[in-house]
Amino acid sequence: MRWHSGAVDSQTFKRAYAMVRAARITEVVQEDMTAHRGRKRTYTYEALFTVLQIAAIEGFGELLLSDSARVTSRLTASQKETLGIQHEWTYDLVEQAVTELANAMKERVDPRTGEVLGPRLSVGLADFMTSLASDLIPAQIAQSDTQAIDSTDYETHARRRSWKHLMKADIPEDSLPELDALEGDAPRNEPGWPRQGHDGRHQHTIDPDARDGYRAGKNRSRKQVFNGWDLHLSVDVPDIGGAARPGLIRGAALCPAGSYKAEGGLALIDAMEAADRKPTTILADRGYTYLNADSWARQVSARGIEQVLDLHESQRGTRPGPIPGTVYVDGGLFKDTLPVADRRLGGFGLGMSAQETAALCARYDQRKYHAFTPMGRPNYERGTQRYRDPVLSGTMICPNHPASMRLDDSRYPTTSCVEGEPCGCGTTVTLGPDDLLNLRQRVLYGTT
Ligand SMILES: [Zn+2]
Repeated sequence: MRWHSGAVDSQTFKRAYAMVRAARITEVVQEDMTAHRGRKRTYTYEALFTVLQIAAIEGFGELLLSDSARVTSRLTASQKETLGIQHEWTYDLVEQAVTELANAMKERVDPRTGEVLGPRLSVGLADFMTSLASDLIPAQIAQSDTQAIDSTDYETHARRRSWKHLMKADIPEDSLPELDALEGDAPRNEPGWPRQGHDGRHQHTIDPDARDGYRAGKNRSRKQVFNGWDLHLSVDVPDIGGAARPGLIRGAALCPAGSYKAEGGLALIDAMEAADRKPTTILADRGYTYLNADSWARQVSARGIEQVLDLHESQRGTRPGPIPGTVYVDGGLFKDTLPVADRRLGGFGLGMSAQETAALCARYDQRKYHAFTPMGRPNYERGTQRYRDPVLSGTMICPNHPASMRLDDSRYPTTSCVEGEPCGCGTTVTLGPDDLLNLRQRVLYGTT
C-alpha cells in the first residue's frame, strides 16, 4: 500500500527510530551542519532521518519526499515529542532539508574569493549510506572477514525525456564487454533533451545525477540500457570453511549509472575502512575484476585486501610463466609438468547440476599438485607475493630433492628432472604487480 492515512504504527516508528539512533552518521551530520552560522533549523537530523526512514519502510523501500512530508501529520503526540517535532512539515521543508544535505556533500566555492572549499560534511555519500545501512546490526552478529562485492542497477524515478543516438550508453571502454549490440530505432527526443550533465555526460531526465548504464542481462535476456545509478553493496559471506550466514549488508555506495565500476567499488571499500569495517578478503564481481590491473587489482591490494574472483572467458587460459619451467594457467602459477589436458577445463555455468559442478571441481583440484603455493601474506603495498615450488611444498616428486622422494609416487606426480643434473625445482618465485595481479588469487580458480 503506497498511501497511508492512519497513525504511524508504533512498530514502524520504533524500527525507524532505532535504525537512525544506531547510525553513527546521525550525530556526525548534526554536528557538521550546526557548526556553521546560519538560520536555526526547526528540526534535528535525528527527526529528519527517522521521518524519511518511516516513509521508506512504509513504501517497501521506495522513498518519496511527498510521503515523508505526510508522515509528520500522522505521528502520535508522543512520537512527535520523541522527535521534537512541534508542527507538521511541508513538502518544501523536506525538500529543502534534503537538498541542503546533498549540497553539504559537495565542494563549495567561496563567493568572495572564488576559492574552492571542501564539502561542509566531513563524511561522503558512501559513508552516509554505509552507516545507515549497517550500524543497526547488533554487535553479536559479527561482520565476516570475507565480503562479497557487487553493484546493482537502481533506476531513477524521473521520466526519460531523451535517448542517446543509437541507444548506446556512454560507459568506459575497458568495462566488461556487452554480449549483444543494442538494436532498434530510439524513440524521438523531447525538445531540449538530452542536456549536457555537469560531468559532460548526457542527462536524460530531470534527475541531475542519473546517467545511462547497462542493466545486467538476467535469465538469458539481453542487456538493456537503464537510467539511474549503480548501487554498490558489500555483503557478509562465510569465510572459507565457515558456516552459512545471512547476507547482511555491511557497506553501500552509490554512483551514477555507467560510471567506472572501480570508482564505486573503491568508494565502497574506503567507506567501510573509515567505518572500521574493512574486510580482509573480497569476493569481487567481474564488473570490477575485468578492469585493468592498475584501476582495480592494484588499488585493492594497496588497501591491504585480497580478492577472490571468477574469470571471464578471455581471462582464462595459458600464459608463459615468470621463470623457465613454469606456466600460468587461469591466473595460477604452475610447473609446466601440468598435463596439457588439464590446462583448459572450462568455466562453471549457472545451469550446471550439483554433480556436474562437483565433477568439474574435482578436475580443478587435480591441478593443485603442480601448483606453486603462496608463502605468507602478500606485500600489499608493493603488490608482491612469494610462491613456493610444489616440490618444496610436498605435492611433487623430484629426484634431486630427497625429501620429495619420500612421497607416494602413485599419488603424487614426478617431474622429468634427471638425478644429478641441475633443475629449477625448489625455487621461490616472487610475483610483482605486473605479473597478472588482476588474475591472482590465494586459492586456485575452480578448486574446492
Ligand atoms: Zn627438479
